[in-house]
Amino acid sequence: MILLFAFIGILLALLAICVFRAVRQTNIQSPESEVSVSRLRDILQKGQSATTVGLPENFDRRTAQYAAGLRSLLQAETVSSVQSEISEKFDRFHQVMAETFPLLHKNCEKYDFDGSLLFHWKGKSAQNPILLMNHLDVVEAVGAWKHAPFAGEIADGRIYGRGALDDKGPLYVMYQAVEELLAEGFVPPCDVYLASSCTEEIGGTGAGKTAKWLQEKGIRLRFLLDEGGMLVDRPMTGVDGIYAMIGVLEKGIGNVKFIAKSSGGHASAPPNNTPLVRLGRLMSALEDNYPFRMELPRPLLEMLRRLTPNVPFAFRLVTANLWLFQPLLKVLVTKVPMLAAMSRTTVAFTTAKGSDGYNVLPQEAFVTANIRYSHHQAVEETHRILHDFAKKYDIETEILNAEEPAPVVDYGSAEFRLVEETIQTVYPGVQVSPYVMTGGTDARFYKDLTASALRFAPLYITADQLARVHGVDESLFIYTLAFGVDFYKKLLERL
Ligand SMILES: [Zn+2]
Repeated sequence: MILLFAFIGILLALLAICVFRAVRQTNIQSPESEVSVSRLRDILQKGQSATTVGLPENFDRRTAQYAAGLRSLLQAETVSSVQSEISEKFDRFHQVMAETFPLLHKNCEKYDFDGSLLFHWKGKSAQNPILLMNHLDVVEAVGAWKHAPFAGEIADGRIYGRGALDDKGPLYVMYQAVEELLAEGFVPPCDVYLASSCTEEIGGTGAGKTAKWLQEKGIRLRFLLDEGGMLVDRPMTGVDGIYAMIGVLEKGIGNVKFIAKSSGGHASAPPNNTPLVRLGRLMSALEDNYPFRMELPRPLLEMLRRLTPNVPFAFRLVTANLWLFQPLLKVLVTKVPMLAAMSRTTVAFTTAKGSDGYNVLPQEAFVTANIRYSHHQAVEETHRILHDFAKKYDIETEILNAEEPAPVVDYGSAEFRLVEETIQTVYPGVQVSPYVMTGGTDARFYKDLTASALRFAPLYITADQLARVHGVDESLFIYTLAFGVDFYKKLLERL
């Protein structure tokens, strides 16, 4: 009986601690910050404000100029294709860039790697250079667009077009900031490299060529800033506030082929366990009994900690008490594909082949899987697990290609804080959080050149706009452009 009371007592005490910690997190969010965020929303979505949040200088004039500049980039179509990485359309885009950013072209050394560009802006010192990067290619624009995808139409305070968010908007504000600093006679304290590949969307070789060139020159980067997160309004269901999400962790990427063999034969008298059946069993078993370990990465836990003041109380009870609820969270995370992908190696079956005839049993059939390697089970361990798993179904594995995960950036580092503080100077009231990328970016090609690959573009978007990246009616609020230009200018001034 005493034991039972003691047990209940401990439970009640734990509950009280959890509630106390969750309630305390509520108070962190002051009413003033709520007011400043809603005013910021008014500016960024509608361009208006009666405000305590300062507008960038000459806001209206600059917004009109920047929207026109971005429009000309959107009108120069740059859909990349695996069939041919090299295309004349990139030359035309370079021409538009030369017209839009004349001082950049006049003052910086320009290198062209089959359409992928690199600019070298000499600073006061060649020590500890940095790299700012993005890509100039886009994915194709299929589906029914309300606004033509390569017209750069402006409506309701937004500019529409394929690439508005991914990645010509970020590209525009980056080069425009350099252009304005050059006009002011600014010389950066260190060398600055600016790169725009033309093969990002096809996982091509553009960024790899650029990285190799830098490596051959013996260049080691203090940090790089590439696409990845943005300033997202209400980044997840139930999460209020505007969060600048900085990608700090990118998984490895590769492809594995699973091959099942047999002696073939006619389909009229089939034996059991033919190659396609074995492959089917393998795929089904792998989905039902995922062989990879779930481990919540530190940046994911830090992200949950930083989101805590803005999530509903029931969630806050969990996220404010991760010391107690981490095991439970590990189970919950498996139910949300996006969070699961952040926490373990994933396997996605993508292509398949059997025999060439409807009535012929295949002598050899295969499926391929796209693999994203977690840091805690990287390339070698993942391949061993897949090989052993496949063996049970009499299936061989062949590694088609594999890249190790990039180093995880420390969100306590000076480089992360530099970006974080710059964001908060330009966008007052916005909160900053590290996050785990599930997709791959060009930054991975630079993993031997720097341990600090930060993935963030300083533009404001809503969750709906985020969902339209690679979809129809991709758009960007034109009022965020001046803030984006100011971010890059301030970042370069603070180096
Ligand atoms: Zn992109």
